[in-house]
Amino acid sequence: MKAAVLHHPGPSPSAPLVLCDRSVPSPEPSEVSVRVEACGVCRTDLQLVEGDLALHRCPVVPGHQAVGVVEAVGARVTGVQVGQRVGVAWIASTCGRCRYCTAGLENLCEDATFTGWDVDGGFAERLIARGDFVHPLPPTGDPVALAPLLCGGAIGYRCLHVAEVEPGSRLGLYGFGASATIVIQMARHLGCEVHVCTRSAAERRRALDLGAAWVGGDDERPPVALDAAITFAPSGDVVVAALKSVRRGGIVAVNAIHLDRIPEFPYELLWWERQLRSVANVTRDDVRGLLRLAVEIPLRTEVVRYPLARVNDALVDLAEGRVRGAAVLDLTGSAAAGG
Ligand SMILES: [Zn+2]
Ligand SMILES: [Zn+2]
Repeated sequence: MKAAVLHHPGPSPSAPLVLCDRSVPSPEPSEVSVRVEACGVCRTDLQLVEGDLALHRCPVVPGHQAVGVVEAVGARVTGVQVGQRVGVAWIASTCGRCRYCTAGLENLCEDATFTGWDVDGGFAERLIARGDFVHPLPPTGDPVALAPLLCGGAIGYRCLHVAEVEPGSRLGLYGFGASATIVIQMARHLGCEVHVCTRSAAERRRALDLGAAWVGGDDERPPVALDAAITFAPSGDVVVAALKSVRRGGIVAVNAIHLDRIPEFPYELLWWERQLRSVANVTRDDVRGLLRLAVEIPLRTEVVRYPLARVNDALVDLAEGRVRGAAVLDLTGSAAAGG
């Protein structure tokens, strides 16, 4: 089978991922093997490939928004059948016993492992996942359109929870990439008034198309005080801009696994019980809650398709802000060759 393997991180234009031929992996008793149909390309993959995020193992196959069909099921796996379509998301395993796992906060488990970081991910024709960490998906529909829900969608779902967004809240979104385009649809479904700050004129237009009440540049202030804000841009300056825009008691949720830094800011910005919170990973419940909402709303994803062989181009396009919506590897053509 073909797999895009990271041996040495480097700038995306240097094509750090190498397409290799590997033997098809077999599942352990607690695992399933999945023939990948599509895998989203996330900013976290870019940060890993470029070396902004330290590698947990090397070589590694990135990719943590995989949609595919179960090909083999380990003897101890229950509730997953061969032939079923499933999603494989960022969280690959947790200990199941610690204070976080037993309190519904498995996203904070200190022994968690992550798809495409600790274990090989979906930039390949096959992947192995723990049977209790795959998510059932509808058998019909475009696997490429489903893929961005598994990370961008699920983390967006968690951001709304962390920011304590309620029906009718005035919500600010800072940055408007793939995850934000899903968040705005969920927020509008809740009846929120959404204000979007982003540097990109194309993203501002897209935000208006998706029902934003107001759009502006990343240095502009929304015309009203916000109840909550979510920052997506991987820049600490944006976090401070968001803090300036929330009302007393408001919450800023930072959706970033890596930030350059947060610049020094006057304490007055945090005073009046404003809260600054990070959003770390997702739980399986987040993924499943998001997938339920995706059917209910229904959520629309905008995707740009790349064959597996062009994964490095997808990363460059993402790095340079050229992807409209989400970049997704489409393996429906190549996977049939198998082997
Ligand atoms: Zn991701
Ligand atoms: Zn745990």
